[in-house]
Amino acid sequence: MTSATQVPTIPLRDDVAIPQFGLGVWEIPAGDTTEVVTRALQGGYRHIDTAKVYGNEAQVGAAFRASGLERDEVFITTKCWNDDQGFDKTKRALKDSLGRLELPYVDLYLIHWPAPSQDRYVDTWKAFIELQQEGLTRSIGVSNFQPDHLHRLIEETGVTPAINQIELHPRLQQAGLRREHEDLGIITEAWSPLGKGRSFQDETIQAIAQDHRKTPAQVILRWHVQLGNVVFPRSVRPERLEENIDVFDFHLSEREMDAIAALDAGERTGPDPDVFVRP
Ligand code: NAD
Repeated sequence: MTSATQVPTIPLRDDVAIPQFGLGVWEIPAGDTTEVVTRALQGGYRHIDTAKVYGNEAQVGAAFRASGLERDEVFITTKCWNDDQGFDKTKRALKDSLGRLELPYVDLYLIHWPAPSQDRYVDTWKAFIELQQEGLTRSIGVSNFQPDHLHRLIEETGVTPAINQIELHPRLQQAGLRREHEDLGIITEAWSPLGKGRSFQDETIQAIAQDHRKTPAQVILRWHVQLGNVVFPRSVRPERLEENIDVFDFHLSEREMDAIAALDAGERTGPDPDVFVRP
């Protein structure tokens, strides 16, 4: 079993350290979340990625409290949903999330989508800057932001997000955006890191998995880790929770990394961030 100490942490620009590996709880029904998160924490996971819109913040908080772990041993992220954007609404939204989580602060608060047609993400970011100063979130970042959205935030507020959480997997490798992040000092988080399983049957992934006696999911997660991405694959099944975090005892060669790089197809499984605005 992977122990919490085997998972590396990555320093963020605002001096917070984030565990590179965690559990995402999107689409885990609220009724199952406490049990799944409890099992993950027992199995060495120390980073949970939730959001207001997932409807399971309360259950994440309950699992943390039941774990007996100290607050500074677990990294908890939540996100500001599109209809909570705007200065005042955003400030209220984080307080409401903290109320559901029953926590005094989160480790990371993200703007879930830029929703550019609402044109409220800059005001939202100004609220984020204050919320961090008030100690209600240790770090602040964004999700699904494109380069022009990032540049606008930085130009209008002078504050660069610590993180951009984007769709990223072997069939959507986002090389351009990752380079942009590197130039700006932003850490990349990969959502849907397994790409909804679409590369599990790929010959290249299968061959690498066989060579290392690992599963296709483990090869893909190891590829993310070596790229420097932060990942939090979702599973509710105990054996997969254990399998997914067990990627710190092998190394992909440069040739294997290059072979996976060649699988990029520019293929999204989720919405286009330039237009997505579901309230
Ligand atoms: P994922 O890439 O983690 O894949 C989850 C799917 O893969 C599930 O169907 C699961 O049953 C299956 N799976 C998991 N482990 C497996 C294994 N070892 N073998 C075979 N199948 C396995 O997808 P995701 O949940 O979409 O993304 C992970 C997290 O990213 C989410 O839970 C959420 O926290 C976050 N997310 C964020 C956004 C955003 O807009 N910011 C969008 C989507 C997801």
